Amino acid sequence: MPLPKAELHLHIEGTLEPELAFDLAARNGVKLRYADTEELREAYRFEDLQSFLNLYYELMTVLRTERDFEDLANAYLTRAAAQGVRHAEIFFDPQAHLARGLDMRTVVEGLWRALGRSEENHGVSTRLILCFLRDESADSALETLEAARPYLDRITGIGLDSAEVGHPPAKFRQVYETAAGLGLRRVAHAGEEGPPEYITQSLDLLGIERVDHGLRCMEDPELVERLVRERVPLTLCPLSNVRLRTVDTLADHPLPAMLDAGLLCTVNSDDPAYFGGYADDNFRAVRESLGLTEERLRELARNSFLASFLEDDEERRARYLAEVDAYVF
Ligand SMILES: [Zn+2]
Repeated sequence: MPLPKAELHLHIEGTLEPELAFDLAARNGVKLRYADTEELREAYRFEDLQSFLNLYYELMTVLRTERDFEDLANAYLTRAAAQGVRHAEIFFDPQAHLARGLDMRTVVEGLWRALGRSEENHGVSTRLILCFLRDESADSALETLEAARPYLDRITGIGLDSAEVGHPPAKFRQVYETAAGLGLRRVAHAGEEGPPEYITQSLDLLGIERVDHGLRCMEDPELVERLVRERVPLTLCPLSNVRLRTVDTLADHPLPAMLDAGLLCTVNSDDPAYFGGYADDNFRAVRESLGLTEERLRELARNSFLASFLEDDEERRARYLAEVDAYVF
């Protein structure tokens, strides 16, 4: 049995495996540019963020109905459960779907069909986090939040993702303020390929409670000190960093130095269908490539539950932490 863990950085659209993409394309009469799953899997060998995003948005077009989103989420939850995930806080990108004519209801209710029954069906508790695409306008983000209002009982928080460079957090100040007023939790991708200042801005201007990625904080010792002092969690995604060339090889990943610095790090899979591994694959990869000890791995698992948005269910958090403490490697 794998180490029990929470997954806090996971884009549901990034869990679309080639086989499911072809199944959904067939069901919906969508023609893909690829002859078969082998050829599509070859296309998953991109070199940088932009080439990944191009494929990511292209394949999303197979998602059309509530049932498609339900099937996508169930496929992820099945894999996640097998990898020791006990709690998943799942990102989705509504703008990408609204832009191609779907409505918010199809996306949220479709995902909810799986998430609402995830505990019974998969033994995984869940939260849903609505992400804004940072390469879209601030007005578009506000419109998206408005469209989500009828579904806020399904949505725990907001996030910010997609191409980081050139799209500073300051652009989204107003939508984060509005979301805070609605009682939503706040996270944002920052310091993945963008500079450490984007992390500082996200904290100061957007009021974020967790940093997604954030590994470039290591370039700014004062920022590291602040993140340690304020116990701000970071959701790191090691296999994603290698595939998108944020680090050259896994052996170069700053995770050990970040843990040594006292940062509250977690390990996650980001877009696992595209980046070569789900949650425990990432744990095993850092264990092998970075030589992390069992106690370090246990610390990462503990951190994942400490960083979870489980303030409304502390009993559950305590139960998960006890599972981690009792785990025998
Ligand atoms: Zn991400």
